[in-house]
This record gives sequence, C-alpha cells and structure tokens, in this order.
Amino acid sequence: MAYQAEYIWLDGTEPTPLLRSKTKILHDEVSEPPIWGFDGSSTNQATGDKSDCVLRPVFHCHDPIRGGRNMLVMCEVLLASNMRPHATNTRAKAARIEKKYAHDDMWFGLEQEYTMLRLDGTPLGFPEGGGLPAPQGPYYCGVGSGRIMGRDIVEEHTQACIDAGLSISGTNPEVMPGQWEFQIGPLGPTAVGDQMHVARWLLHRIAEDYDVVISLAAKPEKGDWNGAGCHTNFSTVAMREGYDAIIDACEAIGANYMELVKNYGDGIEERLTGKHETAPWNKFSYGVSDRGSSIRIPWQVEKDGKGYAEDRRPNANMDPYVVAAMITETVCSAADAKADKTTKKAPAKKVAAKKK
Ligand code: ADP
Ligand code: MN
Ligand code: MN
Ligand code: MN
Repeated sequence: MAYQAEYIWLDGTEPTPLLRSKTKILHDEVSEPPIWGFDGSSTNQATGDKSDCVLRPVFHCHDPIRGGRNMLVMCEVLLASNMRPHATNTRAKAARIEKKYAHDDMWFGLEQEYTMLRLDGTPLGFPEGGGLPAPQGPYYCGVGSGRIMGRDIVEEHTQACIDAGLSISGTNPEVMPGQWEFQIGPLGPTAVGDQMHVARWLLHRIAEDYDVVISLAAKPEKGDWNGAGCHTNFSTVAMREGYDAIIDACEAIGANYMELVKNYGDGIEERLTGKHETAPWNKFSYGVSDRGSSIRIPWQVEKDGKGYAEDRRPNANMDPYVVAAMITETVCSAADAKADKTTKKAPAKKVAAKKK
C-alpha cells in the first residue's frame, strides 16, 4: 500500500522565511523517508539555471491530519552541487553547536505566540468592518464569547500536535484578542526547532480550513496592544542543578545582549518598547518574576535554587534554530571559560603551597 509523506522545509524569503511543503508518495518497502528535491528558483533559494535544491529529512512523525501511515517530514535544505548546507539552512549551525556543547545538555522550551487574522488582515478579535475592540484586560486566559476567538482552531491544533507525538506542553489565550500561545519543549537545540516548525506548519494547515491566517508578526497591531513573542526558556545541566549557573547564564547573555537581540526576529524594536510586558530592546536586565526584564528567572526557580531562565526577547517570528544556537554558544562558552579558569587556578595554588 502506498502512503503520503509531507516534506516540510524553510524557504529563502527575507526577512522571515516561509514554510513550504509538498507530498511524496511512499510505498510499503520504504520505511525511512528518502532524500528528495525541489525547485529553489520558486522559493528564493536558487536561480533558474541552477534551480535544484536537496531536501534531507531530519525529523519525521505521524501525520495527524491524513492519519493512517501517513507522515510529516521536516527537512533541511542542501546544495545539489556538493550536498553541503544551503545558505538558508540555519539548522546545520545549530547541529554543530549542539554537538560541540553536548556535555552541557542544553534544553529549550519555546512559548510560541501568534495572532489569528481574517483574510482581509484584521485580527479575529477586532470588529469586522473596522473599529477597535474593548481594551486589553479580559482576554488573557479568558473564557466566553466576546473574549475568546478561534478556540476551535486551537483545540484542533493541540490535539494534532499530541497525535503527531510532538512535545507540546500547553496552550493559552493571550493578552490581545485573537492572540494565542502554545509551548513546545523542553527539547535539545535542534529537536526544539524541528518540532516547532512542524507545529507551526500544522497550525497554518489547520487554520486553512477556517479561512483564518496565522500571523507570527511581532507587532500585528500598533498602539496599546501586546505584541507576539516566543519566550525562550533554557537550561544547561548545571542550571538544572544549581542557582549560580543560572546567574552565570544571565550574565553571559548580558555581555552579548546586542548580538543576540539582532537575531531574535524581524521588527524587534517595535515589540520590545519597554511597555506591554517587555524590556526595551536596547537595554539588558534580568530579575526574578520580572516580566519587564529581558530575562526572567521564574519565582519557583529561585525558591528551588535551580531550574531554568526565560529569555523574553525573541519575537514570534524568530527562527528557533538561530535562537537556540546563539543561546547555547553564549551560555556554554562562558561556562567552559569559567571552568577552565578554576581548573587552571587550582594547580597554581598547590605549587605555591609546596614552596612553603
Ligand atoms: P510562562 O510562565 O512564561 O508563561 P510557560 O508555562 O508558557 O511559561 O512555558 C514554560 C516553558 O518552559 C515550557 O515549554 C516548559 O516545557 C519549559 N521548561 C520547563 N522546564 C525547563 C527547563 N529546565 N529548561 C528549559 N525549558 C523548560
Ligand atoms: Mn507562556
Ligand atoms: Mn505568552
Ligand atoms: Mn513566558
């Protein structure tokens, strides 16, 4: 019997890549989805004369929409000429960094916020034909008509993620009407990206059936309306075991905050204004329970003296491979440098002691 494999990849659209997908029919004798290809000249990934790009499967799971044996296949893009990563393949770097710092066992939990729009571009929570809804207040984690829009889509998407076997950890209605969140993780740097892209694809796909557009725009409505972020919770094994490592991680990110924030998604200055539960994009801060800081340490983490930290700055439209790679490199290289210093200091002390 034949079955369907939906091959999903990220294209070359700037500043924010789009998800693309197409279907390959597989037959009984094939158990693993094979390498495939596509026309890169139609996705901003190649010129017409050298249009072939390669799709290499990196993660696959049950397809909860088609059911049966059908599967979803997340792919990375390679150059046909030499099978090396395409310039748009941000996963390749994340994989390299994950391997380099495997001993730190970095985990990520991503809180994906998004806005549901009508086909004319207005948010679902805004009145049809123009005007504004009642101010923010009753919508976050609300219940009831007039406060909640699009719950059917959320229910269907959540169940689809569960059926696909993704590590979805929760959902909630957000502060702006028509805005929602789901969380993926905790998972390693590449796995969290693989699963997030599949979860985003499922959301776009399910919303098609409702004529709803899923927007990952960072600030879909100007004015007194919350933007959409992708808070990035992270921990190394040392952070999961002790509080000092959490403070060290915050300090390491603080020392590189501009470099990171530049890679946290398009339109970051519009969202990180210092209002609407954000810290200004050009100032770094961290604090316990502080939703107005760049990095929040949850109160439970302070109480337990171990756990994780939350970088609140990444936008909804961020690339999880890029963000996970940058945080891993920043936090783990600082931890290694500190460990080097202490191991180098220790023998020096011993020598001094012997001299006495
Ligand atoms: P918030 O209170 O900021 O809304 P959420 O509950 O929405 O937080 O999301 C928290 C995320 O952090 C979840 O995806 C969860 O899986 C993840 N998480 C929990 N523990 C860890 C950890 N040790 N390392 C990384 N992520 C974690
Ligand atoms: Mn959340
Ligand atoms: Mn949220
Ligand atoms: Mn959060």
